[in-house]
Amino acid sequence: MTLSTSAELSIPASCYCGAVKYIVHSLPTSPPKLCHCTNCRKAMASGVQWAGYMPASSIEILSKETVKGFARCQSFFPGVVAFERCFCSQCGSRVWNVLVKEEDGRQVRYLGVFPGLFDDPDDAKIEGFRPKSHLFCGEEVALTQWRGFDEMQLLEGFSSAKTAKTDK
Ligand SMILES: [Zn+2]
Ligand SMILES: [Zn+2]
Repeated sequence: MTLSTSAELSIPASCYCGAVKYIVHSLPTSPPKLCHCTNCRKAMASGVQWAGYMPASSIEILSKETVKGFARCQSFFPGVVAFERCFCSQCGSRVWNVLVKEEDGRQVRYLGVFPGLFDDPDDAKIEGFRPKSHLFCGEEVALTQWRGFDEMQLLEGFSSAKTAKTDK
């Protein structure tokens, strides 16, 4: 469910198997980016990572399922003191990134959430989640040669709702 202002925002998100569920109560505090770096590609098993970062307190975790984290390459950017990619211990789906930054002498914890996990795809259309830039384009696998997605055929009539829920 989506409302117009950040204060009222309530976006349900969950992992592939549904064991990890959370509610996003804030828009990203900086414009989301599409990251093409090798680490993001490997971690997401995808051409890009689409993430929006917000203070950790903006996310309400509803599930008790264990979330595992994997830390590597934590110093891409100035001020970043820790970075961890977290995933559901049941299905392995990525659930969020943890980013700890030093700001004005104190450490602030951010979570990076993935609009791809939003339960209602329309929530990912909220302007605040719109990716505004590409990052690490020199490492991209698909952007250049597949630019022009709008010219691709749209295959209608498929729904994942049934298949996603039947294997448990
Ligand atoms: Zn899961
Ligand atoms: Zn990246």
